[in-house]
Amino acid sequence: MFRSIKWKLVAILVLVVISLVIIVGTFFQISVSNFYTEEFTKSMDTAFEGELSSRFAGASESADFENILEAYSGRLGLDMYRYCCVLSGKTGALLYSSDYDLSKDIEKTPNIISAMAGKLGSTQSIMSHYMDYAFPIIHGKSVDYVVYIYDSKVEIGEIMGRILVTILEALMLGFIIAVVFGYFMSRTITSPIINLTHKAELVAAGDFETKIAVRSHDEIGQLSATFNDMAKELKTNINALSDEKEKLESILRYMTDGVMAFDKNGKVLHINKAAAKMLRIDENEPLIFDEFFKPLVGVTVQEIYFKSKSIINRDFEFSGKSLQVFFVLTGLGKSLKHQSNIIAVFHDITEFHKLEMQRREFVANVSHELKTPLTTIKSYTETILESDNLPRETERNFLQVIVSESDRMNRLVYDLLLLSKLNYGSTRLEKEAVDIAPLMGEILRKMYFAMEEKHQTLVFSIPENTPKVNGNRDRLEQVFVNIVSNAIKYTGDGGEISVYAGEIYGYVFVKIRDTGMGIPESDLPYVFDRFYRVDKARSREAGGTGLGLAIAKEIVEAHGGKISVTSKVGEGTEFTVNLPVYVEEDDYISSEE
Ligand code: ADP
Repeated sequence: MFRSIKWKLVAILVLVVISLVIIVGTFFQISVSNFYTEEFTKSMDTAFEGELSSRFAGASESADFENILEAYSGRLGLDMYRYCCVLSGKTGALLYSSDYDLSKDIEKTPNIISAMAGKLGSTQSIMSHYMDYAFPIIHGKSVDYVVYIYDSKVEIGEIMGRILVTILEALMLGFIIAVVFGYFMSRTITSPIINLTHKAELVAAGDFETKIAVRSHDEIGQLSATFNDMAKELKTNINALSDEKEKLESILRYMTDGVMAFDKNGKVLHINKAAAKMLRIDENEPLIFDEFFKPLVGVTVQEIYFKSKSIINRDFEFSGKSLQVFFVLTGLGKSLKHQSNIIAVFHDITEFHKLEMQRREFVANVSHELKTPLTTIKSYTETILESDNLPRETERNFLQVIVSESDRMNRLVYDLLLLSKLNYGSTRLEKEAVDIAPLMGEILRKMYFAMEEKHQTLVFSIPENTPKVNGNRDRLEQVFVNIVSNAIKYTGDGGEISVYAGEIYGYVFVKIRDTGMGIPESDLPYVFDRFYRVDKARSREAGGTGLGLAIAKEIVEAHGGKISVTSKVGEGTEFTVNLPVYVEEDDYISSEE
């Protein structure tokens, strides 16, 4: 019960009231008692100042004493509680008493002793149970009698008793008033505190909308106002924090790099989608750092904390992918090393690796392609230079070889330049409406001689109403020349070469089919790769660079089209080129309208 402030306040109030009443009562008692004894001494002094002392001096017998006391009993206040005696000044023996039993001896009080010595005995003690006054009657130098007044303090006792009862009654009343007042007064203090506590609980539970009504301007009022301010500030801060958290979460969720966070004990805190996908784990999997990363990349929590200043990175292969991981500690700037978390960031570098490999392969291929004709040119030139009497015919043949090898190198460099231009998009294709039928007719006419030489038959079937395509005439010519010349090259004597075209779903398709040697199925996916040749020796012999189809593919794709191939070894090959139909701008506008 006394744990609550309410009852503590009541108890304090009660204690204050009780102690106040006790202190006041005690002082009151003492002062009443003092007053009474002082009054006694004063009244005795006045009584003895007058003729009373001289009358006592003239008296010698009990009858005289009786007469005197009868006359002065009122002034001396003699009653049943106060009596007067006359004692012998020498022996202290009782000579006369107004009320006292004469057979008994009077106790020799300090006042009697001082009176017997000739001095007035009027000293009083509050503590003693009586008051007395001893007046010496001196005759010459000796004390004849001692007039002794004794008061038993019964009257004071009765008065004191009354006062005590009154005090106790006041105490009881004070106690009741203190309890009742204390209860209601403390309620006015504690009820705002209880209210405040309740609201604080709501705020702690996350309800920042609650406001405390400020009803007074005292300390509790100030506390309530401060509390409201604090709740407002907290709300703003928490909102800002949750905004930041949301931002961070959506960044983590949608970023393509994988991110994982671990606490200082290596327990996983967060796995983002990308990381889960890369490592084929669940986003909510309860991973332990060392169990997961030690077998994978040989890194432990201990190592990361040991090398806390540097970023640890590792490359590793995981289910056919090349991944790179970086480990860092967070919060190092605040010298909270022991509290930092570990962040692991993953990059998928598979594509980068592939490109790197392709680049290396390309450089190796280019070097190789250039080296072969260079070696030939060098050796033939040296032979001509070193041999003085080389037959004219041989020399001519040698020079012919040098020219054709130089041409090959030229073609190669030209193709490479074209490829790199197409690759980097540095040549913007000027497009126009190109009619496929006359274009193909022209190309085939130019190549007819080569076909005739190999006794090949040509089948040409392009409907007149085939729509025009949106393209660059020269580049498209290059594509078709390459495909047709390949068809002628890789088809034996007496073969057949067919060219078809038509329209399907907004695209014009052109098919060039031959009945040649065909391409093995395993080589088909690579024929559009740079420097890829099915039969290297034969292709080189035929003057091919191995770049023709790669260039064709780049050009067709730059037109928004597609090139594909189907083939069967020994039966023939068919290349299909799809190109978007040319749409006039007016048509665009009318269709938009
Ligand atoms: P190349 O200059 O060697 O002809 P291409 O890129 O034009 O280079 O062709 C790549 C390879 O594809 C050729 O080396 C050849 O092996 C194969 N090829 C292309 N067209 C045909 C075809 N019509 N029949 C058979 N093989 C072909």
